[in-house]
Amino acid sequence: MLTIESPDEMRAWAREQAASDRTIGLVPTMGALHGGHLALIADASRRCDVVVVSIFVNPLQFNEADDFGNYPRPIDNDVANCQAAGVSVVYAPSGSAMYPEHFQTRVILGTLAEVMEGPMRPGHFEGVATVVSKLFGAVRPDVSIFGEKDFQQLAVITQMAADLDTGIEVVGHPIVRDPDGVAQSSRNRRLTPAQRAAAVCVPKSLTAARIAAAGGAEPGDVIAAAAAIIDSEPLTEREYITIFDARTLTEIERFEIINRRARAVRIATAVWFGNVRLIDNCDLFGE
Ligand code: AMP
Repeated sequence: MLTIESPDEMRAWAREQAASDRTIGLVPTMGALHGGHLALIADASRRCDVVVVSIFVNPLQFNEADDFGNYPRPIDNDVANCQAAGVSVVYAPSGSAMYPEHFQTRVILGTLAEVMEGPMRPGHFEGVATVVSKLFGAVRPDVSIFGEKDFQQLAVITQMAADLDTGIEVVGHPIVRDPDGVAQSSRNRRLTPAQRAAAVCVPKSLTAARIAAAGGAEPGDVIAAAAAIIDSEPLTEREYITIFDARTLTEIERFEIINRRARAVRIATAVWFGNVRLIDNCDLFGE
């Protein structure tokens, strides 16, 4: 396995693969790899001849300096995990390689970035789209895998890849959860044991929502059922719960028969545990 740190070297490697007709799968990450990332890597390996995992904690997408500063960076461990997973290249550029002096370009997004997480995290998706665009440019993947854990991110990047004629197939991967249902996340490492135990209220709230929806409740009551579970946990502060169209990401205020049949409706939530913000979502009507 190679570790590559510069965009030029990365592009040169990618050109060699293309010349040998090898397809490249890219899994973009910010490191602190866990089972969720490893599932994305396994998916990329099934789809492509070689797999690149990028590890870069992207300053452009953080809203708070503290969150950026405190983000875990266990790089040696991450490299060992990638090696064990059969990855061909870890692409781990430095901050100055990605954003040299005089860097000034940004990707401008549309409505998909303006809803849900968008207003809560100004500039976040623009930062994500800009870095992913740079990763696409350096790695030149055929396929890139993103987790449904960050459902809005997956939607924004799918749209960007199509709009900018990248020819890259963006693939979504289902959320990987711990045995108690909590979605795996690098930020879970920052929870105290009491907060980690309390975090189970997040997937429980989504389950309560699915039960309410299956019972015929309308969105307001479905959200109330989910909120009640989160609010009964004293260590949490609920930021939002929203029910939305999985394609347009617009909020749904009344279900139509077609919503229930087409299974195109999701519910998402963001919940604070102290200064750690966890997000989760699921299909509201699917299995
Ligand atoms: P991150 O390192 O948090 O930026 O995540 C890198 C990629 O892994 C993103 O596409 C995430 O959506 C995905 N991911 C993170 N956690 C999970 C999870 N629990 N299940 C599936 N995908 C995940």
